Amino acid sequence: MDCTVCSKKKEDFEVWSNKIIIAATYDSEVQNHKSIRKMTETLVICHNCMQSVINKVNEDRK
Ligand SMILES: [Zn+2]
Repeated sequence: MDCTVCSKKKEDFEVWSNKIIIAATYDSEVQNHKSIRKMTETLVICHNCMQSVINKVNEDRK
């Protein structure tokens, strides 16, 4: 599986699917981030990119 943000090849355990993101983050601002919104059922995002999205959203909130 390739991360939809950085395009790097990742193993299953290294990625978040759309469903995991919605289940694991109760944060609508994270879920509405452009990188997350463009994800479909089949796309995944790696932990590093997910963390950057969360950091970015938290910074924008300040
Ligand atoms: Zn990535």
